[in-house]
Amino acid sequence: MIHYRLLSSLFLGLCLVVLTACGPEDATSKSTSIDSSKIYHWKMVTTWPPGFPVLQDGAERFANNIKIMSNGRLDIKVYAGGELIPALQTFDAVSQGTVEMGHGSAYYWAGKVPEAQFFSTVPFGMTARGMNAWLYDGGGLELWREIYQPFHVVPFPLGNTGVQMGGWFNKEINSLDDIKGLKMRIPGLGGKVFAKAGGNPVLLAGSEVYTALERNTIDATEWIGPYHDQRLGLYRAAEHYYYPGWHEPGTVLELTVNQRAWDSLPADLQAIVSNAAQAENLHMLSEMEEKNLSALQELRERTDVQIHKFPDDVLRTLKTLTDETLAEEAANNPKFKRVYDAYQDFRLKNDAWSDISENAYLAIEH
Ligand code: CA
Repeated sequence: MIHYRLLSSLFLGLCLVVLTACGPEDATSKSTSIDSSKIYHWKMVTTWPPGFPVLQDGAERFANNIKIMSNGRLDIKVYAGGELIPALQTFDAVSQGTVEMGHGSAYYWAGKVPEAQFFSTVPFGMTARGMNAWLYDGGGLELWREIYQPFHVVPFPLGNTGVQMGGWFNKEINSLDDIKGLKMRIPGLGGKVFAKAGGNPVLLAGSEVYTALERNTIDATEWIGPYHDQRLGLYRAAEHYYYPGWHEPGTVLELTVNQRAWDSLPADLQAIVSNAAQAENLHMLSEMEEKNLSALQELRERTDVQIHKFPDDVLRTLKTLTDETLAEEAANNPKFKRVYDAYQDFRLKNDAWSDISENAYLAIEH
């Protein structure tokens, strides 16, 4: 009898567990309403040149993984910059629904959404580790979605360049005086800070960078990191290679999805997209790190490039000028201020933790 009671209560318990697991009406009706024969044919445009390693490759791998995981139900055709629309029209194309998806980086839209820059990178900002913590678990992604919402765009992190290099210079930088009047290709907020330091920032597309440096039209340029810089041949155009990339300490790449297209997807395809984006976010960063460490070794062993760290006082001044630049932008733009405050709040806590974790560990002589 006791056994019977025990068994029946166990059975009842099991039923409850099963009911709780499968029972909620929403989930049941949503899963039965999925039409698994419907195939979604989407277009994704990127800001990268055709065949651009890591970034364009990663966007294509992401689309391919989604096709496999959805058993072909979400079929995304990826176009590099210029193949379907000009690279820098990616955000507008996604916003207007001309295409369903885009891949780029939020600072490209600084002219339209200045506060979006915090979701890519800002000078002396957080590295990939801090950005992922902020975006995924510290409220950053919710804020990003809110900022893009008026444009009918849903953002996701989709890759990170890691800490970039400071750039290639045709002379040594020993003090701030060496920056005065220097013509450097350095875009965005980094360029504004560079101008405050007395430099002369120049805007140039990636395709023009090598020739401009080689012909001394510019004195210096930043690009990405050892791997992409080596590929562009920049070591043949200038011999001084500086670190760290104070202006781009961990540039987040973004997936953008048109809001209406996103809403049209059933729950399982939405889950596939969002999990594929998380997987690719990690994969692109990992691939970038591996390619950079290999390229750095090659540059050291096979070229005469001189690799230097920027002098401490130069970095300190650039940091002070960055704080001024961000504060000025915040004073003029309440939306910028709102994102800046949220970013700073997280960043200060992240700095305090990093100081006694990763930074302390890495500072041990080895
Ligand atoms: Ca760069």
